[in-house]
Amino acid sequence: MEATLQQAVNIHTLLAKRPLIISGPCSAETEEQVMQTALQLAATGKVDILRAGIWKPRTRPGSFEGVGTKGLPWLQQAKKASGLPVAVEVATGKQVEDALHFGVDVLWIGARTTVNPFSVQDVADALKGVDVPVLIKNPINPDLELWIGAVERVAKSGIQNIGLIHRGFSSYGNTEYRNAPMWHLAIEMKRRNPDMLMINDPSHICGRRDILSAVAQKAIDLDFDGLIIESHIDPDNAWSDAKQQVTPERLGEMINSIIWRSEDIHSEELHANMEKMRSQINQLDDELMQLLGQRMKVADKIGLYKKENNITILQTNRWNAILDRAFVKGEQLGLSKEFITKYFDAVHMESINHQNKIMNK
Ligand code: PEP
Ligand code: MN
Repeated sequence: MEATLQQAVNIHTLLAKRPLIISGPCSAETEEQVMQTALQLAATGKVDILRAGIWKPRTRPGSFEGVGTKGLPWLQQAKKASGLPVAVEVATGKQVEDALHFGVDVLWIGARTTVNPFSVQDVADALKGVDVPVLIKNPINPDLELWIGAVERVAKSGIQNIGLIHRGFSSYGNTEYRNAPMWHLAIEMKRRNPDMLMINDPSHICGRRDILSAVAQKAIDLDFDGLIIESHIDPDNAWSDAKQQVTPERLGEMINSIIWRSEDIHSEELHANMEKMRSQINQLDDELMQLLGQRMKVADKIGLYKKENNITILQTNRWNAILDRAFVKGEQLGLSKEFITKYFDAVHMESINHQNKIMNK
């Protein structure tokens, strides 16, 4: 009991380390593969926790679905030999029990599980009375409420140490990513849970090796607390997610090449300069708001005019003309087409709402 308590304290301390680096194979495949990966990862000196999938929820049947419970003793041995605590994905209450029985230190809930409140509840019920850190991946679909719901279910079962993993979101059609990062959702989740560990999973965002470093760097620049990246002793022949895994050696190089910026602003000069620029930004934001307020007042006037003359609110040609004009101007000012579209969509919606109110008063 005392040893368990000691271990529990240590794992919580370890999870508070910044940056926190978790790595290991997508799936545990063989005893030898788990052991070799763990030893090579430990040798890099860059990794804090060993990950491995034991049960693999696959999108399509027929893919490798994990070795199951027989892989848990392999993890125990790898932990003993490498000194790295281990993390495993759980999707059912039974898997929670099995993982805990074999001394798994950290559990995580996968993206395909977070989407399903029944599954999350089943996992949460098995966690009652247990002191183990639980990391919760974002759901496959870009739905913040579902992610928050999973956090609440796990928290309600008494788990105190909950962390978040941003692994990107599934979107229809091919993009350069396997799962679009949609960074704004992770940032909003962080804003709502400021004290929760938030780590990034470049492997499942990228789905390929060549852009892992760039995504990892971006996450660190956005002040994420750490990374979970898949690694394998023979990536090309991995039984799952072969394209996105890297060797432990490459993992070490990647972590080394990341530029770790600090959120704290130390020197006074730096601080003063930042303050100056920030107050310029605040000033400009105030002016933009003033202008937007004025723009809506003009829209109100037009609304009244349309009402008196019985004209529809939306006039497609006028709207196309506004956008075309904005694209040309925006390009000259270094504003992307994507931004211009989003910005004008939002302004347009607000205008329409204003006019709607006036016309139906
Ligand atoms: C994994 O970590 O191997 C995994 C299955 O990830 P996700 O749940 O993010 O798809
Ligand atoms: Mn994987």
